[in-house]
Amino acid sequence: MIIVMASRDSKDVNHVVHKIEELGYRAHIIVGVERTVIAAVGDEREKYRLTVLESLPYVEQVIPILKPFKLAGLEVRHEPSVIHCGKVKIGAGNFCVVAGPCSVESRDQILETARVCKEAGAHMLRGGAFKPRTSPYSFQGMEKEGLILLEEAGKKFDMPVVSEVMTPEQVPLVAQHVDMLQVGARNMQNFALLKAVGQSRKPVFLKRGMMSTINEFLMSAEYVLSEGNPNVVLCERGIRTFETETRNTLDIQAVPVLKKYTHLPVVVDPSHASGHWDLVPSMSKASIAAGADGLMIEVHPCPEEAFSDGPQSLRPEKFATLMQEMVPFLELMNYKW
Ligand code: PEP
Ligand code: MN
Repeated sequence: MIIVMASRDSKDVNHVVHKIEELGYRAHIIVGVERTVIAAVGDEREKYRLTVLESLPYVEQVIPILKPFKLAGLEVRHEPSVIHCGKVKIGAGNFCVVAGPCSVESRDQILETARVCKEAGAHMLRGGAFKPRTSPYSFQGMEKEGLILLEEAGKKFDMPVVSEVMTPEQVPLVAQHVDMLQVGARNMQNFALLKAVGQSRKPVFLKRGMMSTINEFLMSAEYVLSEGNPNVVLCERGIRTFETETRNTLDIQAVPVLKKYTHLPVVVDPSHASGHWDLVPSMSKASIAAGADGLMIEVHPCPEEAFSDGPQSLRPEKFATLMQEMVPFLELMNYKW
């Protein structure tokens, strides 16, 4: 239910929160430009018990949330969310480019990639340390050592870093070294992991499962939000279709569709979507035109030697060119970047 406050006084807000909790629901305060609302979420079956709150003088209205995604939806929050990751802002007109290698492979590799990404204008650095590989015989990532190197590179070149976490047990370790926790496509419905990152205070970069619907994607974001972590960035990274020319099919329509339903920022990953470096520039520009709030792009100093995802990784000079080519598109969309 949405409890629309008539008052913005913190004493009144806290009193309503207390009442909501007494009734066995979780309260999420959403401070908007025009009004403060409190979303009460919990057992759907008895939610009408919350209507008693309407009798409080500083409550304007108690209304049901109709969509299945309560906190991710536009019913509780009309304005787009801005997610802060270190100094970087994502969403509501703030465009963010996350770049870096698929995997952290060595100190030299991550430092060199960070340098070229920063020089080209990237805002954040990516690099996998725990890798979800199809084959158990493929490179599995440098794990803790990789996280330490990624953190060092991010600090050196003044870029917040993001890396994937694959299990709830890994959350404390990964969170210690990164600014943003990535939940990969293969784990989009790992509900224990979603709850664990939801309990963490780090922003979460949630990738859409390759076989997930937009509704399922938003419900996964809802898991994170319902644990009390409001900082979620959604990432469309391509879905599986009958097409075999590309690694996945970039569901570009997912961007405006998601925007119709959610206030959360939407980033596109054209590298994993296409699987080919030469498709990344056109898909990046298409994503900006579709209204994406950012891009995640794989960059490697020497793609032919990459331990993972070399064929879809841009060389430094190609990435720098793309960053330049994006400018008129960003200007056209009135983005800050
Ligand atoms: C990645 O970003 O390195 C990755 C594994 O992506 P996805 O989960 O989208 O396949
Ligand atoms: Mn990859």
